[in-house]
Amino acid sequence: MTPTEQKVRKARRLIAAGMTRQDAATRVGVSRETLRVYLDGAACRFPGCTKLARNRGLCSGHIQQERRGEDLHPLSATKANTMISIEDAELDVHEFEFMRHICGLSPVQAVVRLGMSPYVIIDRYHRLGREVPVELAAIRSVRLATARRMVDPMAAAS
Ligand SMILES: [Zn+2]
Repeated sequence: MTPTEQKVRKARRLIAAGMTRQDAATRVGVSRETLRVYLDGAACRFPGCTKLARNRGLCSGHIQQERRGEDLHPLSATKANTMISIEDAELDVHEFEFMRHICGLSPVQAVVRLGMSPYVIIDRYHRLGREVPVELAAIRSVRLATARRMVDPMAAAS
């Protein structure tokens, strides 16, 4: 069994015990995408890509590359789908708290301004072993599209 398989096995037990996938992934130290591939299906056929295959064996990112007529190449890592360092997590949390307390934005506005979903910020707090602010936990079910509309009414029209 590979180290990743061991982690996924542990995550599977946590999920069976009622933990969310996101929390289980964070707890055992695998990305949510990796966990999804192990639990739901095959990985993208592009070598080294760990995202879930959607169509013709490719993940959404690689399907887009194909549609744009590009040679397939590695997707650039995003903060959302990689295990980020403590330093990066600290930066994100610091930025979030800056917008909340210095700029006076609501949690939803701060999240949107950062271009992240509430899940990602919550993940950062978990990564640092810090307690998730109550008001942040409360918006975790808010979808980013809804959040955008609340901040920028014009975005809803487009
Ligand atoms: Zn891919």
